[in-house]
Amino acid sequence: MQVFGVVGDPVEHSLSPPMHRAAYEALDMDADYSRFPVTGDVGDAIGAAAALGIDGLNVTIPHKEAVAALDAIALDDTARRIGAVNTVDVDGMTGYNTDAAGAMRALDHHGADVDGSEAVVVGAGGAARAIAHGLVDRIDRLAIVNRTVGRAEALADALPPADVETAGLDALPRLLPEADVLVNATDVGMEGDVTPVPKQHLHGDLVVFDAVYTPLETRLLREAADVGADTISGDWMLVYQGAEAFEIWTDVEAPVSAMVDGLHEALS
Ligand code: NAP
Repeated sequence: MQVFGVVGDPVEHSLSPPMHRAAYEALDMDADYSRFPVTGDVGDAIGAAAALGIDGLNVTIPHKEAVAALDAIALDDTARRIGAVNTVDVDGMTGYNTDAAGAMRALDHHGADVDGSEAVVVGAGGAARAIAHGLVDRIDRLAIVNRTVGRAEALADALPPADVETAGLDALPRLLPEADVLVNATDVGMEGDVTPVPKQHLHGDLVVFDAVYTPLETRLLREAADVGADTISGDWMLVYQGAEAFEIWTDVEAPVSAMVDGLHEALS
């Protein structure tokens, strides 16, 4: 049997187990996926996983940056650029970041015309970092807009050379009329019917992607649909980062629709 899991603190609400188990069931694989709460040294936990024969681990808050800094783990290019690991191939002791590819696959799945576009990312935390690294290789211009402008600047400084602007939230009315893609990578919308982008700044030529996945339909997405924009909810990034991890561990194409069903069942 192959054994996978997620290390983090807390992990009890992680949606990865139902998503990955749905994939194993769809492909009739002899595999299981567990939650491993790790409050101590995450390097010790990964060493123990290797000794126990665990095949692959996802890594979540607060350990993503600590795993990227471990001498025992080799990093792939994306994980090195982002400075955070969310997937470890334990056999090969290699760390990956599948959040960036997960976000790009979510956009591609919905036919979003990302290449050569102008994108605005709202937020400068962990999700924004992964999404910005994914976008920067493909878009023409990127604006990173954040409540705390210094964090947006720090994120932009860590990106490969590109046409990147940083600004506070008050720049949204100026930036959005020209934008093709809008990403919410803040927490705003998780609690209460609130939005980081007032409806009057949205328009029908936008693709609006919200990284928030609880609720699936945020106020931002509802109002974006009202003005005729294309909308993509955060569950698609979650599924595709999991699909990427599945493919790294197994070399088998992920059964994405089964993973979507597993995730939606757990969310409901
Ligand atoms: P984080 O590192 O804590 O960053 C939070 C971001 O939200 C910061 O940019 C912060 O701005 C901003 N923010 C928080 N409250 C705000 C407010 N009231 N007004 C304006 N900005 C506010 O969090 P994260 O890990 O990036 O997660 C952000 C969201 O993405 C969460 O909803 C999370 O569930 C989601 N997410 C989704 C996926 C997925 O696969 N779909 C993956 C990762 C995360 P400041 O810098 O000014 O504090």
